[in-house]
Amino acid sequence: MPKEVKARAHTWYEVDYEKGTIKFLRRICPRCGSVMAYHKVPVPRWACGKCGYTIFEQVRAR
Ligand SMILES: [Zn+2]
Repeated sequence: MPKEVKARAHTWYEVDYEKGTIKFLRRICPRCGSVMAYHKVPVPRWACGKCGYTIFEQVRAR
């Protein structure tokens, strides 16, 4: 069995209060088709909890 993920309120979106927009933090894994999770630390990336597929997001230019 995989490591148990601690249950907590998970937000699938991020609200940008300055712009007043909602950015959905959701992506489908291209490998297995399940929902990927977004992680900001230590680097912005999308990780699939099922197969471990990871997409590194490009760092936005300042
Ligand atoms: Zn996957």
